[in-house]
Amino acid sequence: MNTKILLNEDQIPRQWYNIIPDMPGPLAPVINPQTLKPIVPEDMLSIFPMSLIEQEMSPQRWIDIPDEVRDIYRLWRPSPLFRAHRLEKALGTPAKIYYKHEGVSPAGSHKPNSAIPQAWYNKQAGIRRLATETGAGQWGTSLALACSMFGLECTIYMVKVSCSQKPYRKSMMQLWGATVIPSPSELTNAGRSILAHDPDCSGSLGIAISEAVEDAANHADTNYALGSVLNHVCLHQTVIGQEAREQMKIAGDYPDVVIACCGGGSNFAGLAFPFIADRASGKQVRCLAVEPASCPTLTKGVYAFDYGDTARMAPIAMMYTLGHDFVPPGIHAGGLRYHGQSPLISQLYHAGQIEAKSYKQNACFEGALLFSRCEGIVPAPESSHAVRAAIDEAVLAKEEGKERTILFGLSGHGQLDMGAYDAYLSGDLEDYEYSSELVKQSLERLPKVQL
Ligand SMILES: *Cc1c(COP(=O)(O)O)cnc(C)c1O
Repeated sequence: MNTKILLNEDQIPRQWYNIIPDMPGPLAPVINPQTLKPIVPEDMLSIFPMSLIEQEMSPQRWIDIPDEVRDIYRLWRPSPLFRAHRLEKALGTPAKIYYKHEGVSPAGSHKPNSAIPQAWYNKQAGIRRLATETGAGQWGTSLALACSMFGLECTIYMVKVSCSQKPYRKSMMQLWGATVIPSPSELTNAGRSILAHDPDCSGSLGIAISEAVEDAANHADTNYALGSVLNHVCLHQTVIGQEAREQMKIAGDYPDVVIACCGGGSNFAGLAFPFIADRASGKQVRCLAVEPASCPTLTKGVYAFDYGDTARMAPIAMMYTLGHDFVPPGIHAGGLRYHGQSPLISQLYHAGQIEAKSYKQNACFEGALLFSRCEGIVPAPESSHAVRAAIDEAVLAKEEGKERTILFGLSGHGQLDMGAYDAYLSGDLEDYEYSSELVKQSLERLPKVQL
């Protein structure tokens, strides 16, 4: 019985899997926030290179991974797939639990899978600097790493509450040469206008995105990079699921259910999309997206056109949303605090092709603690949502006396999140209710898009 299933470097995928041609229907148009009309590629050229804009709408099912990108992937890919024998035993479950460990990347999460190609395509386009936002700091560290690999400058607007919760993430970004700015900041119109209303604003991903987009749009040598949500980011992450499929084959198994936590959705997409593609050949795999109860985009949001950011500068997309100015409570899974959701995942959820579930943070940390004690690896607070859901699936299998094969994504390790674990261990971790009143207010301000 294998514990760790490894592939060799030659088995790093040579192509990304683009789900667009396999979607249940045509994609909704992306809307220009100024004109409220469908976006044309030229609208996005002030912040993205044409190569990535093309990937965003590509009808091609397979897209080649550039050799230079694959060479850097070799530093940590293929990532290991584990069978959680000890966790299964602790739970006394007949279920088999597998997990794909993306915490082995230099930045400690799945995010470099997209940061590396994004930096590379921008470098090819002659860009000198990338601006971005970061919540928990995982995307910021990943883009800082990618920029240092290709000699690009990197400016990172970091959600203020995360700056104080995760100081060592900031240090990692600086170590890799990036400039880190707490958001909201005085450096942009978006930041200044928020601070004018709320000087103590703890920030949100939506606000930080506004600042980074404004910075990129105002500087010709600077582009913007987004760590999740967009189609091309989901695309890049499909190396995860493609490898996991091969590794499950080696294990002689196939998952009944694939589970991943879902912030902007790229991690879920990366693991799940290649399995969703298998449905064409008759495989019945359930896919479960897990989100925080305090930011329950899929489970409590509405499917509507909304702005990607708070200051209404980023494009409007058809997606599940809690409203672009909804600021979720400062939970420790900072990477899951986004008001919106990948349009691809939103469409699949709306069509009933994937499931979603939400958990409060104490339940997640409880699962993460059990996982750490059985498997050794400390999960990131974001990943603990998937851990919890996997445990519950395994417990359900036990209650039903049924076998079940569970695959979940361990999107990152939590070794820089000890403050959060400390709070959990000392009983100081708050469980926030999501505020239906705040969401309701925010949803009243959705853009009025007429097509
Ligand atoms: C950012 C992050 C997430 C959320 O990722 P999305 O792709 O936006 O859903 C999950 N886990 C970890 C460890 C992260 O850093």
